[in-house]
Amino acid sequence: MTNENTLPSTDTAELSGFAALGITGALLKATHTAGFSEPKPIQVQAIPLQLEGRDIFGIAQTGSGKTAAFALPILSKIIGLGTKRRPKTARALILAPTRELAVQIEETIKILAKGAHISTALVLGGVSRFSQVKKIGPGVDVLIATPGRLTDLVREGDLILADTKWLVLDEGDRMLDMGFINDVKRIAKATAPDRQTALFSATMPDEIAELAKGLLKNPVRIEVAPQSTAAAEIVQSVVLARTKQKRQVLSKMLADEAMRSVIVFSRTKHGADRVTKDLARDGFEAAVIHGNKSQNARQKALNDFRDGSVRILVATDIAARGIDVPGISHVVNFDLPDEAESYVHRIGRTGRNGRDGIAITLCDPSENAKLRQVERIIRMKLPVVADHLASPDPQRDPREKAVRHFEPANDREHHGGRRDGRRPGNGDDKQRFGAKPHGERGPKPQGERPAAAKPNGERKPDGFKRFKGNNKRRFGGKRPANRAA
Ligand code: AMP
Repeated sequence: MTNENTLPSTDTAELSGFAALGITGALLKATHTAGFSEPKPIQVQAIPLQLEGRDIFGIAQTGSGKTAAFALPILSKIIGLGTKRRPKTARALILAPTRELAVQIEETIKILAKGAHISTALVLGGVSRFSQVKKIGPGVDVLIATPGRLTDLVREGDLILADTKWLVLDEGDRMLDMGFINDVKRIAKATAPDRQTALFSATMPDEIAELAKGLLKNPVRIEVAPQSTAAAEIVQSVVLARTKQKRQVLSKMLADEAMRSVIVFSRTKHGADRVTKDLARDGFEAAVIHGNKSQNARQKALNDFRDGSVRILVATDIAARGIDVPGISHVVNFDLPDEAESYVHRIGRTGRNGRDGIAITLCDPSENAKLRQVERIIRMKLPVVADHLASPDPQRDPREKAVRHFEPANDREHHGGRRDGRRPGNGDDKQRFGAKPHGERGPKPQGERPAAAKPNGERKPDGFKRFKGNNKRRFGGKRPANRAA
């Protein structure tokens, strides 16, 4: 990175907390009303620098307080601009990889901007486009969006980014995993050239460092949590159980009322549905969240879990990052994730804000190699607290359907996410761009949206780059037929 700065010296003799960082007026009031009395370390570092106009490269996880760290300086500057907005424009754009994270960011911004006459809008896939276009119509102060739907709106001319002077990319590494990197670059290119940019990422693979180089101007790098290190207050353990035993083991665990608020992680969407059904058969009500659920269903599941109407949330790794539900007492890994790093994000859902958390991983002998990988990444050996391997497999109720062990091709949440930034697909362009008639094609790739569906040759993965001039042209003019997100 080009620059590693220390904090500018500010006269803090009479001011404290957020006021000492340069936050004033309605924002300061709303920040206190939100219960943020003392700024978190990332806020102490990032807020004054952004108020000075600096670009930020933040290595930080959700839970660090990064939302307020990027939002407060932007809001503070927007307040100074007054309420006259140009139609179809957004003064600030915040890009998030998942719909849930985008919703959460908007909620935080609304709280922080209370009383400050700031307009916000959400642009997400999986929900009505019409209402989003309508909301953007008069122009908004802060737009929070997932890259897929945003690209569609820009391409259609429903949104103009040329006046967007603040750009935030949240969870950059996740955007990369989900195959959004070229969308992100294209979107950034359409914003004002003199914009101020902040990029946050929990980890820093080479591709993120490259992205930062391309998008940030003389950035200050801020790091608040060591990479891939689980929070210290989470007690982690392993329970050895064969796959067929896991259902019974889980249900026995959940009978303990100390498990007040539990996320059960499953590697696949099909697995998440099956765990939820099995739990229901065993008398436990659970909400479920994964990439095949509609946005409304996902939001409802999260809300029910957040407000305590259900104490169990079954989730794929889509919920492992970004989602901040306070007070989760336990994380249970029904199976080990494909990528060891996901383990850290999964268990990070508990042990938040200084509270204790417990993370239990059920491990079948076939998952031993994955367990070793996790232990390597967290740099500790996980204690085995129970071993069911010597016990016989439980008998399944003959009235229930036999357990299906095959894994449909699109069943993993990360299937299709590509670090090279090309659109999700199997590498075969014919299939990726829809050579077969719609309906004969394979399952939709995962992520926030299906792959582009223009006939081969009409649209190339990085084809927007060549267009200069107005957004409509740069974003490809026509909207592909089956883009949902
Ligand atoms: P974030 O990393 O932005 O998702 O924030 C994680 C959690 O910390 C959220 O629940 C915020 O409401 C909370 N939070 C952020 N900043 C502060 C602060 N200065 N004081 C107390 N809580 C905070």
